[in-house]
Amino acid sequence: MSDLPIRPYTRLPAAFHPWDPRTVEIAAVVSRLIASACPGVEVDHVGSSAVPGLPGKNVVDLGIEADPAEIPGLTDALLSLGFQRQAGLAPFPPTRPLLLGVVDHDGTPFRIHLHVMPPARHELAELRGFRDALRTDAALRDAYTAAKQRIVDEAPDGEANLLYTVRKSDFVQDTLYARGIRPGPADAPTPLAPGATIGILGGGQLGRMLGFAAREMGFRVKALDPDPHCPTAAVADEIVVGAYDDALAAVRLGAMADVVTYELEHVGIEAAAAALEVAPLRPGLAALRATQDRLAERRAIRDLGEWAAPWREVRGVAEARAAADALGYPARLKVPLGGYDGRSQVRIAAPDEVTDAVTRLGGTEARPLLLEREIDFEAELSVVCARDRDGRTLSFPISRNVHDEGVLIESVAPAPIHPLVAADAVEIADSLARGLDLVGLLTVELFQLRGGGLMINELAPRVHNSGHWTIEGAVTSQFDQHVRAIAGLPLGSVKPHATAAMVNLLGTGHDRPARLSGLDRALEDPDVHVHVYDKQRVFERRKMGHVTVVGRDADEALDRARRAREALTWEE
Ligand code: ADP
Ligand code: MG
Repeated sequence: MSDLPIRPYTRLPAAFHPWDPRTVEIAAVVSRLIASACPGVEVDHVGSSAVPGLPGKNVVDLGIEADPAEIPGLTDALLSLGFQRQAGLAPFPPTRPLLLGVVDHDGTPFRIHLHVMPPARHELAELRGFRDALRTDAALRDAYTAAKQRIVDEAPDGEANLLYTVRKSDFVQDTLYARGIRPGPADAPTPLAPGATIGILGGGQLGRMLGFAAREMGFRVKALDPDPHCPTAAVADEIVVGAYDDALAAVRLGAMADVVTYELEHVGIEAAAAALEVAPLRPGLAALRATQDRLAERRAIRDLGEWAAPWREVRGVAEARAAADALGYPARLKVPLGGYDGRSQVRIAAPDEVTDAVTRLGGTEARPLLLEREIDFEAELSVVCARDRDGRTLSFPISRNVHDEGVLIESVAPAPIHPLVAADAVEIADSLARGLDLVGLLTVELFQLRGGGLMINELAPRVHNSGHWTIEGAVTSQFDQHVRAIAGLPLGSVKPHATAAMVNLLGTGHDRPARLSGLDRALEDPDVHVHVYDKQRVFERRKMGHVTVVGRDADEALDRARRAREALTWEE
């Protein structure tokens, strides 16, 4: 027994109890205790135990809102009261921690779940709204009770505890939307009909595959690209020739389109804003602004209470050196704008490499860089999440990705990970898609940490290389899903057919006209699909195509996709 007011947490089975009025007293006592230890902090009693008459696990859920900068200090104060950090595979990140403890009431232990959340997430307002809806509406209470009972009854032995929270979230979400507690997008699309035109800023392979999907549903396609022979040209009615930051060209594209989207983050923000003057822009201008600049992205992630590698904005060598010393080596230094496929970033292994790294990336007082700690991850994962016209999100199964010097080389999906980790990844994507108020796709690249937990690496408000497997591997492809979302249409099923492996076909050697050989040999395996992006020129590490195999399991599918790729070579 500890002599702290809050005792160590113990796991209990997900048994279902009638509502216990003592939970309200416990909530009041603990709230007063927290308020006296942390002056100014307000505690809300939320969750099922705050709803008289609602059966549940009698866990006392408490919520606190705090600014991201104050959360570490507040957490320490709460830990000193006896609360504990969560452990396990998918703990809440330290940026919005769930703290655990037990309080006795006349010998009966009650578990406390204390959620600390930054205001930008609007999570506490939702928890309160859901609680109040349940308090005032007996029919909703009955329906929720029945839904919870079904989850407990249907869960396989030993999994009830694990999957309980995950499964009941569907009911919670439906209620939040139905009652207007959770708002839909500010700019909700009206549905487009076939014959409408989708304008794409960027004409690369992503635009090309988006174009195929748009065409399938009878939409017309126009794209902006500096190169009239870009990969999207084959599926576009017209290529508006212009640089990615050419605002006049973007307006010409927008004037011909019913909706404008982008296939890369590196379109100029002024050009995107100009297109928005004449047509709806989706996933949205704010999402583009928050993701095209790595520093803005880190700030958005922090404000929403999500977790990324510790980072600093650094101006010049001295600041970079101080930041790297503080965060630890190895570090990664990145140019805020314009980097992709591992370009425009440098690994700093030791203090004596800082000066060279800053110089190479052109960092000065006036040109800040992002410095972040290198993460020793277990695996890289990504989630491709769609947000629809109503604000609901739907994520594809998680991909597990391998990069080589910053370039994606292969993905398998659904990733062979624990369902709780997958649920956590989906929850992160959902909160970001809503936080950025986008309509369309958001891809979240994640690090799966050794010992549990997920950390965000990067966001992309668009279709993504790690989602290419969905073309053959899922009921709806990511491209189809993006078109549906931005066209204001219902989302498609994200159900996978089996396990898919996707291997990128990269360029090799010096810059020369692109001629691929070996397609016949690659296709000898009848389950292999080869995608070639029809780029005019090939050079070392350029993304030229990809190979997908839908197979029995990750190893088998990967093995066959790799073999097919090895048959493909670029002629000298
Ligand atoms: P890009 O825009 O080029 O994709 P990323 O920031 O995603 O840039 O970096 C590319 C890859 O480099 C990542 O997928 C990861 O493999 C590696 N990487 C980048 N930052 C870190 C980091 N802080 N710790 C560990 N690996 C990193
Ligand atoms: Mg990346």
